[in-house]
Amino acid sequence: MDELLSKFVYFIGGEVCIKLALELEKLGDKEITDQELGERLGEDINTTRKNLYKLLDYNLVTYRRTRDKHNGWIIFFFKVNFSGYENILIERNMKQIDNWKNLLEYEKANMWYACDAGCTTVIFDKATEMDFRCPQCEGLLNFKDNTKRINDLLGKIQAAEKENDDIRSTHKRPVKKKAKAKGSKASQEKERLAAGNAD
Ligand SMILES: [Zn+2]
Repeated sequence: MDELLSKFVYFIGGEVCIKLALELEKLGDKEITDQELGERLGEDINTTRKNLYKLLDYNLVTYRRTRDKHNGWIIFFFKVNFSGYENILIERNMKQIDNWKNLLEYEKANMWYACDAGCTTVIFDKATEMDFRCPQCEGLLNFKDNTKRINDLLGKIQAAEKENDDIRSTHKRPVKKKAKAKGSKASQEKERLAAGNAD
């Protein structure tokens, strides 16, 4: 795993997930069951599965399911799917950037009011509805300068945009067009997986 991928996997599931991903990477194209992977790592089966599902959420692993001929149990075989992870990262950043931009617009479009104790922060319309009184501490709602929140959001947007530029320039693989409903496909797979485990 390169540094960028390590950082990503760490973000997804911390140390255990890194260990798991490294073990899967060692296997390359070879598949492994969740059971065997857990044994290799010295982790219990639930921890192993939980982390495999986390990686599956980001399409960083693939799986194949089959039924044991002898006892009829469902067995899952996993393998790594690290190729193209840069696109997943870029898409994740783009989604966050969109969210932050929406928040930024909302921050800019409104005047904000807050009590001194900090329990309530609302926009002007809401503050008038409340007669400029905090429902919790009953303190007065005063105009609150939101320059800092605007700057925080701008900083986050810029950092994510820079990260995407860095990924694009250091990782030469072509960036594919945004795959539609990638997340929902992954979660459907996860549901199927969980259903399979239950029977
Ligand atoms: Zn208050």
